[in-house]
Order: sequence, then structure tokens, then C-alpha cells
Amino acid sequence: MIVAVASGKGGTGKTTVSASLAWVWDRPAVAVDLDVEEPNLHLFLRPEIAWRESAFAEVPEADRAKCTLCRKCSDLCQFKAVSVMGRLLLTFPEMCHSCGGCLAVCPEGALSPGRRELGVIEGGRAANVRFLSGKLRIGEAMSPPLMREVKRRLGRYLETPGTDAILDSPPGVSCPAVNAVMDSDVIVLVTEPTPFGFHDFTLAVEAFAPLGKPMGAVINRAGLGDSALHGFCAEKAIPVLCEIPYSREIAEEYASGGVLAAKSPAMAAIFTDLRDKVAALARGAAHA
Ligand code: SF4
Ligand code: SF4
Repeated sequence: MIVAVASGKGGTGKTTVSASLAWVWDRPAVAVDLDVEEPNLHLFLRPEIAWRESAFAEVPEADRAKCTLCRKCSDLCQFKAVSVMGRLLLTFPEMCHSCGGCLAVCPEGALSPGRRELGVIEGGRAANVRFLSGKLRIGEAMSPPLMREVKRRLGRYLETPGTDAILDSPPGVSCPAVNAVMDSDVIVLVTEPTPFGFHDFTLAVEAFAPLGKPMGAVINRAGLGDSALHGFCAEKAIPVLCEIPYSREIAEEYASGGVLAAKSPAMAAIFTDLRDKVAALARGAAHA
């Protein structure tokens, strides 16, 4: 089972929920930080990192001596990542989406596979939870290629039967957020009962609903704001899986770092209950 923990906006407590959910998961689990632009799941789980490696995207490398300036590559490239200007062949690796089309159409063999560093992927363990994370290279504009590489490594872990994954997805509703949740079995949307939280929650529901996956809500800092969130969830048939109360004690626990579920029996109970409801939601969809 793959559980995607997502949110319409940053700062809702998504990573807190991801870490605690992974912590109380009752089957072998991999906690995955897919928020590769700002990964911080490690700050909560504090894993021991066992390995770290760079990830690359394939981009064309030009041999200008072989190029006849026929323009077949530049006519094909939708992203203007390879271009013929006057008598000059230019490549722009940062704009390349690694489709491989230009390499395939070049009749002269003037383009060969090169690579652009996307960032770093690392893995390790925090207690019983396996940990996997991507970190985008500073200056790299596209996060989905690195996210794909992280998912590719996750696929190896998931080959072990009975292994589940908890994905800490990027916030928002743009391409990286949709990319993160699209392979999941269930989406847990973390929000807060403020006008901003409510607004971005409705956007997230709108963005993810077409994927047809079961969705449930976690209301963090419950007790703030009004009942608009509950009304919207009822209208859209989105179950409220868990409410984490707004309290000074929880805020202090949060500020001290670490896993909320490990702080007290009361917190453990909240996330154990959430775990069971998430699993039931996913099972319900599988049996529907
Ligand atoms: S690999 Fe695809 S995206 Fe990249 S330069 Fe070639 S055609 Fe363009
Ligand atoms: S397709 Fe090959 S030969 Fe033609 S312009 Fe591009 S690199 Fe040069």
C-alpha cells in the first residue's frame, strides 16, 4: 500500500503527520520524502543515513564536428532545449526533459547521451522505519525528474512483499504535488481550520479528485476557526480521519522536533487510530 500525505499549502503539519504515521505503521514501512525542493522529514525521523548518491537526467551532448545543421533535432524538441541558430548548434541542458527524441532523429550521430545532475538521493533507517529522501540540486528547475528517481528506488523496496510506503508529498497543487500522489493507493490531505487552510484544501481536493483515489482529511490545530472544513468534507464525502487538537502542549512538542507519536501515549493513540482508518479507507477502495 502506498499512502500519500499531501496538503494544499505548506505549514499545515503534513510532515509531522507523515513522520508519526510511519512511526506507528504496523507493517514494514518506508517513509519517503518526496518534497525534494525542501525535504525535512529527516528532521522529524532523524534517520541514520546508510547511503547517499547523486541522481542524473539524460540530456544530449553535441559533437558539433558531425552536425550538418539539418535542424531535425530542433524541429522536434518541444522545449527548445536544442536549437540551431545560424551556423551554430546550441544545447540547453537545464531545459531538457530527457525524452531522447533528438538523439533518435539525428541522422549524423552528432548527439550522444550526456547527463545533468538532478540532486541527491539518500536512504537509511529510523528505528523500524526505512527512510528514503531526495534533495534537489540548488539551481535545478524541475523537481519531477528527481521525484521519479526516488520513486524508482522505492519500487525496489516495495518488491519485498508486505512493505508499505508513506510518502511526504510536496505541498500545493502544481505538477510536483500531483506527480507525488498519482501512484498512491490513498491520499491523506492535511489541513487546518483557518480560511487559508480551507481555501487551499478545496483546491487540493479539486486537483486530486480526478485521480479517483480514496481521500481522507486530517485536521491539524483543530479547534481554531469555524466549521467550514467539516461542511465541505461532508459535501464531498471526504471522511475526516483525525483531528489533532490545537494546544500549547502539542505546539511545544512540535517545536522540540522528533516524532509527535513518540512523545506521549495520547499522541500515539491519535496516530494509531489514524493508521487504522487510513488502512481501512484504502482497503475499502480496493474492495469497491
Ligand atoms: S532529449 Fe527531448 S527534451 Fe531533451 S533536448 Fe532532446 S528532444 Fe529536447
Ligand atoms: S539533428 Fe543532428 S545533424 Fe541535425 S542539427 Fe541536430 S545535431 Fe545537427
